[in-house]
Amino acid sequence: MSIGSSYLKLRGEIPDYVKMVLAAKTRSADEIKEAILAGADIIGENYVQEAERVYSELGALAEKVKWHFIGTLQKNKINKALKIFDCFETVDSTELARALNDRAGKAGKIVSVFVEINIGSEITKSGVKPEYEAVEELVKDISGLSRLRLEGLMTMGPRTGSPDDLRGYFRKTKEIFGMLKRLNLPNVDLKYISMGMSNSYKVAIEEGSNMVRLGTAVFGRRSCDLTG
Ligand SMILES: *Cc1c(COP(=O)(O)O)cnc(C)c1O
Repeated sequence: MSIGSSYLKLRGEIPDYVKMVLAAKTRSADEIKEAILAGADIIGENYVQEAERVYSELGALAEKVKWHFIGTLQKNKINKALKIFDCFETVDSTELARALNDRAGKAGKIVSVFVEINIGSEITKSGVKPEYEAVEELVKDISGLSRLRLEGLMTMGPRTGSPDDLRGYFRKTKEIFGMLKRLNLPNVDLKYISMGMSNSYKVAIEEGSNMVRLGTAVFGRRSCDLTG
């Protein structure tokens, strides 16, 4: 199936209130263009340099969609990233939040951020440890940063054989989301729970996700996966 028809099929199946972020790492500008022309409105990228390349190749089309950063953000890339991304989904420390706030201030911008939770406590993954107190502390710090608007939580969840094994992790993320919402902090307007990928989006939506990040399901397998 073509990228455009895969996107349209998924968009038809996924409830309207759930936003679809197209995880576009390794994809060419032409592939991304096909998705945008079919209606995709949020593109997720993991690397600033790769995003810069496809963004410029897409020309005017790039400005018609939102760009979400979903990788590990290096501080020395923040200024470049601010030129492209509308939302940073992977904020996991006060230090990173302050750096973003600083640079956003200098660029005269206000940016949307999500806090990433390492819901499976995996040593190989970034994200705040999945304890309510730890997340609340970071959320309160971000609330004090005037250039940032905290709008959501993001989590990956462990890679497991069965998406059903992720149910408990997604549920816990939703629970933390509910507790944080009740704090009613300034600069914090929690709206989005970004969880669920190609293999797990159905379970994630059942457990409260309203933003899924899809790569393979739209674009097909990544060529680096074929050899791995
Ligand atoms: C690649 C990626 C996805 C999408 O993965 P698929 O399994 O291809 O759908 C989602 N989120 C993040 C952070 C990613 O890096």
